[in-house]
Amino acid sequence: MTDPDPRPLPWQTATLTAIRPITQRVKSYRFQVGFDRPVLAGQHVDVRLTAPDGYQAQRSYSIASAPAGDGTIELMIEGLPDGEVSGFFDAVAEIGDTIELRGPIGGAFVWRPEDGGPLLLAGGGSGVVPLLAMLRHRAAAAPGVPALLLYSVREASEVIAAEELAVRARDEPHFQLMLNLTRAGGRRVDAAMIAEALERLGPPRHAYLCGGNPFVGAVADLLLDAGLDPARVHTERFGG
Ligand SMILES: Cc1cc2nc3c(=O)[nH]c(=O)nc-3n(C[C@H](O)[C@H](O)[C@H](O)COP(=O)(O)OP(=O)(O)OC[C@H]3O[C@@H](n4cnc5c(N)ncnc54)[C@H](O)[C@@H]3O)c2cc1C
Repeated sequence: MTDPDPRPLPWQTATLTAIRPITQRVKSYRFQVGFDRPVLAGQHVDVRLTAPDGYQAQRSYSIASAPAGDGTIELMIEGLPDGEVSGFFDAVAEIGDTIELRGPIGGAFVWRPEDGGPLLLAGGGSGVVPLLAMLRHRAAAAPGVPALLLYSVREASEVIAAEELAVRARDEPHFQLMLNLTRAGGRRVDAAMIAEALERLGPPRHAYLCGGNPFVGAVADLLLDAGLDPARVHTERFGG
């Protein structure tokens, strides 16, 4: 799928309006933006920082908020030690700062209510961020669409939006959460875990996988081995 809107995306100045801790390493950043097109769940923005000497660094960040049309977006950024851009956000950025960004970007890794379900979402670490946007959008616009999130992190303290996900799993009849803690007695996502997810959800109409390259590659292989049509498997890779 190509970008839903082929018009060029201009860089723009966005204002940082709120910062909130999410986990020890991840913070939420809300921006006032002036996008010239609607946001779709699953899309990302590019952020560009410019040093006083003109040096520029550019990175992509997924949009965590559901499409709202209120002129704001939420990003969730994991502060990496020595991370050029995430380190800036973690240690330097303050409410009221203006940041250069462009977006929303992405046409293949998006979910719209009319795309339906069942929806299999698999996230590794901060790869859960665009899946959160899909879950938030689904809850507001298509709560009857069955969805299962298989979310793999090292330990419980690293779970992004832990309380929100637990409340969704408790209160939303068609949403299931499979949390996999790899360091706390768990294991890497394997064929048995995928089989359990497919058993609980039923045959997915769409699968969205997001995280680092090894996570996404491994889960995609497991889904194809389980017989999923590759056309139904959408992937977003954060690098790493
Ligand atoms: C489409 C897309 C969406 C993304 N969305 C998010 C998001 O929502 N939240 C988020 O936190 N990040 C996200 N990322 C990753 C983000 O773009 C940066 O790669 C990340 O913040 C590191 O950039 P940095 O400048 O801080 O680190 P760098 O200065 O580039 O690297 C610092 C160190 O971290 C290592 N490193 C780089 N990237 C990663 C990584 N992803 N995981 C682990 N180690 C890494 C490098 O090898 C290096 O050792 C996304 C990436 C893509 C492509």
